[in-house]
Amino acid sequence: MNTLEIYQEVLLAHNENPNNFYAIEHPTNKAYGVNPTCGDEISVYLLLNKEGTLETVSFTGQGCAICKASASIMTLHLQGKTIAQAEADANQVLQVLNDPNAALPNHLDELKALMGVRKFPMRVKCATLAWHTFLKALRNEPTEPPNCCCCRSNP
Ligand SMILES: [Zn+2]
Repeated sequence: MNTLEIYQEVLLAHNENPNNFYAIEHPTNKAYGVNPTCGDEISVYLLLNKEGTLETVSFTGQGCAICKASASIMTLHLQGKTIAQAEADANQVLQVLNDPNAALPNHLDELKALMGVRKFPMRVKCATLAWHTFLKALRNEPTEPPNCCCCRSNP
């Protein structure tokens, strides 16, 4: 595996300096997701306003570079979108990530750095985790992280 191909500069930059990497204090929606094959785990927080627009999208957690970069890119992309737009975009991203032959629609062009992982099927789940967790948050399926004193504290 040529790691240079996965860890493109864009992904590396997002991993080192993730956007919106914090917990929203009073989120309207929140969900937790885990990718057992890699050990990635993240929580996604949403702040939806009365108009049904995503005012803020943030995340916390620990994961590999791909997982974190994907979440960082996702929060930037979804901010300011309506629920319907955001849900449609997330579903499209997941579809394209899971299908090496699918083309990325033009309006999702800013997400193309993520699509390199499609060459590495083992890592696709790292990239999809944030988006799956976002959809769970939208549907209000929180799935609390394990709160265990010996391994991790509940964020
Ligand atoms: Zn991972």
